[in-house]
Amino acid sequence: MQDKILRKFFLGFIQIHILHHGKEEPFYGAWMIEELIEHGYDISPGTLYPILKDMTQKGLLEKEEKIVKGKIRKYYTTTELGETILVEARKKAYELFRELKDD
Ligand SMILES: [Zn+2]
Repeated sequence: MQDKILRKFFLGFIQIHILHHGKEEPFYGAWMIEELIEHGYDISPGTLYPILKDMTQKGLLEKEEKIVKGKIRKYYTTTELGETILVEARKKAYELFRELKDD
C-alpha cells in the first residue's frame, strides 16, 4: 500500500527528471535508467519505457532513431511543450522544497 502511494508520487518526479535531461541533450532509455538509479529510484525498463512512450504520445518528448554500433537506438529530446511543462513543474517543485526544508 505504502509502496503503491510512493510509486505514484515518484512517477511525477521521474517525469520532471526526464524533461530536465531531455532538454539538456538527447538521451536513450538505458542511460536514463542508470541516471534514475543514481538518484535513488529503483526503476526497471518495464516501468520506464511505458513512461517514455506516454510522454512521447502527449507531445512532451520527441523520439529519434539513431544507429549506434549497428543497432537502432531511440533517443528522446524534450519538446517545446515539454519545456513549458518543465518550467511550471520546476516552480512548483522549488516552492515545495522551500517549504519542506524549513521543517
Ligand atoms: Zn538527473
